[in-house]
Amino acid sequence: MTATATDLLIERFRNGERPALARLVSYVENQRPAGLRAMAELYRDTGGAYVVGITGPPGAGKSTLTNAVIREYRRRGKSVGVLAIDPSSSLTGGATLGDRIRMLENYDDDGVYIRSMATRGEMGGLSIAVGGVTHLLDAFGFDIIIVETVGVGQDEVDVAELADTTLLLQVPGLGDSIQTIKAGVLEIADILVVNKSDIKGAESVVRDLRNMLRLGDHGPWLPPIVRTVAVSGDNIAQLLDTIDKHRAYLESSGEGEARRERRARREVVRLAGSWLAGQLELALQDPSVAPMLAKLLRREINPFEVAEAIASRTSSRVQSRG
Ligand code: GDP
Repeated sequence: MTATATDLLIERFRNGERPALARLVSYVENQRPAGLRAMAELYRDTGGAYVVGITGPPGAGKSTLTNAVIREYRRRGKSVGVLAIDPSSSLTGGATLGDRIRMLENYDDDGVYIRSMATRGEMGGLSIAVGGVTHLLDAFGFDIIIVETVGVGQDEVDVAELADTTLLLQVPGLGDSIQTIKAGVLEIADILVVNKSDIKGAESVVRDLRNMLRLGDHGPWLPPIVRTVAVSGDNIAQLLDTIDKHRAYLESSGEGEARRERRARREVVRLAGSWLAGQLELALQDPSVAPMLAKLLRREINPFEVAEAIASRTSSRVQSRG
């Protein structure tokens, strides 16, 4: 794509045109050069959105809750962008999270944008692209960005890295709740949501969570427990009020600024790491490296020596270029 075509796309994005947003999201997702150029240009328009992370086990009602939350934010006059992240493996069967959110309601509303993304099995589950797409939704002007993930592996932790407020969903009926929360996962929750509070066992989930919170180390913010019934919309307004309270806490305590700084640092490290990995791959393809690789395969040298040689060669090349 030529520079002028990208400029035109950026201009259409700034005019609020949805197709331009969708195009740029795809470019950023696929890490195309036009996407990176647009990101660089649009980054200064970011900073206005509030990011809410929603995570929890499959079937907890994340899609249903996201819908209810969207509806309530719309009622309050806020626009909402949703990024529904599926681990790649789940794309082989069944509907994606984003599809399920869309299926529940026919969104014919300029104030709502829903996008599904599959992670590519990168470390930590959430790819670099998710951060980029969040910036785009922010720059486009959405008031609220919801990032939704299935709680598998490291995903919960990653969504917390992106979000200002992280909601962790728990539900009755999944057996002993203490067993369903993996170590460390509770710590990422700013608000604990006990969804499906209309069914038996909700009370004991709340009790278990309360006990776990008492034992854990949560700092000055004690994560509130909010009971919801996503299917009927019960207590969703209260949930949004609780998110607002957490937002106010972040601002008044300085924790919000600290989180933003941590997030910026992590993003820079992640991007730089990805860029360096690309440089190292390139360096390994250089024909001059072939003899060294052959020696490695014959076990005449070890991988540490090769790594050091490649790393120092790459960094001196980067330095001489800079
Ligand atoms: P996800 O996999 O976490 O996105 O879960 P879904 O939103 O697809 O919900 C899974 C199932 O639980 C669906 O059949 C929903 O209708 C149902 N569900 C969601 N929220 C509630 C709730 O508050 N109460 C009850 N009884 N069912 C719910």
